[in-house]
Amino acid sequence: MRATRLHGPGDVRVDSVPDAALADPTDAVVRVDAAAVCGTDLGFYRGHAPTAPGQRMGHEFVGTVVETGADVTGVRPGDRVIVPFNASDGTCDYCVQGLPISCRNLQVWGMTPGIDGGQGEAVRVPFADGTLVPIPAGTSEQMLPALLALTDVMCTGHHAAISAGVRTGAEVAILGDGAVGLCAVLAARRLGAERIIVFSTHEDRAAVAKQFGATDFVSARDQAAVDGLLHLTQGRGVHHVLECVGTEQSWATALGVVRDGGTIGWVGTPATTGPTLPSLLMRNLTLTGGVAPVRAYLPQLLGDVLSGALDPSPVFTMVTDLDGIAGAYREMDSRTTLKALVKP
Ligand SMILES: [Zn+2]
Repeated sequence: MRATRLHGPGDVRVDSVPDAALADPTDAVVRVDAAAVCGTDLGFYRGHAPTAPGQRMGHEFVGTVVETGADVTGVRPGDRVIVPFNASDGTCDYCVQGLPISCRNLQVWGMTPGIDGGQGEAVRVPFADGTLVPIPAGTSEQMLPALLALTDVMCTGHHAAISAGVRTGAEVAILGDGAVGLCAVLAARRLGAERIIVFSTHEDRAAVAKQFGATDFVSARDQAAVDGLLHLTQGRGVHHVLECVGTEQSWATALGVVRDGGTIGWVGTPATTGPTLPSLLMRNLTLTGGVAPVRAYLPQLLGDVLSGALDPSPVFTMVTDLDGIAGAYREMDSRTTLKALVKP
């Protein structure tokens, strides 16, 4: 079969690899119907994070079950499924607690040795019953992009908002106008936030944020961004900040606009050591968040997507196939496209 591999910074190729096949009785083989390119993939592509030579790429995908091992009872061949951005057993103490990202048997697509990446024709899914979430039969093909967004970015934005305690009437500021930040806008609106202030210097991304429910925008950086938000809030700042970037600059803005006693829900991969403990102490600030427990959020958010109450599909601004995937990485790297959907 064909699958995407990274051979070095800026060098993604579609290679011939061994077919995905059952290895354990708890496995399923899933044919990939749609995969996405993520900001995390770009981190590898840019050489910011270490990779193995020829590492398989992609952790966001939806597909159709083609084969199941003898012990799999939750899905059958022919079922269309959402695949969270990692595999979890569904039975360990962390999975039972609702924190599958800390699963004792966590497997990460493309990263764990022997585990396929999602940007290919098919994937062997370990712990199929613990990992896969079936999509009801008869779901429209047009729902595919929205369902694909649930594999990572929508659940990650939701995690920032839930962790920060966003609720009805809240005033929220969102740092990051990439797919996760935009999904955090949707999540904050879904949780009833009254005012959603987005930092963005890109008109096209701000337009999506507005469509998703953003009420105010600050198109500035650094101290001007802090001043802009304080101006919008009569100097008060906001109770909740959703930090979806992870840079020193974005953390400085987050700390500059959050009110004392407030919360920062952070999901951006940190490229900085972040705030110091003394800077939090005097202000009674709470930092909360981390890597989203996607599998735990999926049932509820899937219900909202299927009912039409939630539609993150506008984060996809490009559709291609495997032959176009190197171009998709290039366009996302140069920020000429927001997020690519790949139909193998
Ligand atoms: Zn587990």
